[in-house]
Amino acid sequence: MIDTHAHLLYFDDVDEIINSMESQGLENIVTIGTTVEDSADSIALAEKHKNIYATVGIYPEYSNLTTEEDLKKLKELAKHEKVVAIGEIGLDYHNEVFDAEAQKKLFIQQLEIADELGLPFCIHCRKAVSDLYEVLSTHKHLIKYGGLMHCYSEGAEWVKKFIDLGMYISFSGNITYKKSDRSFLKDIPLDRIVVETDAPYLSPEPRRGKENRPEYVKLTAERIADELEMSYDEFDKIVTKNAKRFYFKIKNA
Ligand SMILES: [Zn+2]
Repeated sequence: MIDTHAHLLYFDDVDEIINSMESQGLENIVTIGTTVEDSADSIALAEKHKNIYATVGIYPEYSNLTTEEDLKKLKELAKHEKVVAIGEIGLDYHNEVFDAEAQKKLFIQQLEIADELGLPFCIHCRKAVSDLYEVLSTHKHLIKYGGLMHCYSEGAEWVKKFIDLGMYISFSGNITYKKSDRSFLKDIPLDRIVVETDAPYLSPEPRRGKENRPEYVKLTAERIADELEMSYDEFDKIVTKNAKRFYFKIKNA
């Protein structure tokens, strides 16, 4: 099992998490960047630990603070051997005040970096699905190294559209919540599903509301396996294979 999306820098006891990975059945954790600074820190963590990989990216909400210099730095960071994707990038219209144009510009600039370096990318999308889809569908040529919808929560209505663009669909703890629609899970091609925690956020049931940790990715996977009428082991094999195909720079000895 691989936790394809966690924020390890937000934990005080990172060492404990990493030391217990093996006993928790976790092969890898991908820790996600949201600024130039924490992207650099994520790489530093990945350098220290064989099983940890990093992504580098600038979160949409920082679009107005981002300079050309930041993008240059990000591109340099992205060339590191343990950087497996650009992310999380995308659009977030959740705040009352947001600059959609600045967010789209930064999003496309980072899609271009991913393409130029031959890396896949991880998408963050909140309350912005139609604009996000529009950007991706008008920049299909930038998806050739793979894209992933992190913490997918756009429901049945959009899933086929993103799949048709070639995107992977990643689920975190919120898919386990009572009111979540799980009816469309069976419509997703099995080679496009991955799982993640987004730890320390979005703890799956029955830990909802408490701090999330990478090992709880299993709770989310169990719930989805259930829905697909599959054993956990069978589903684990599928999502692990998918995660390694997507993050093709992950190399386990
Ligand atoms: Zn995240």
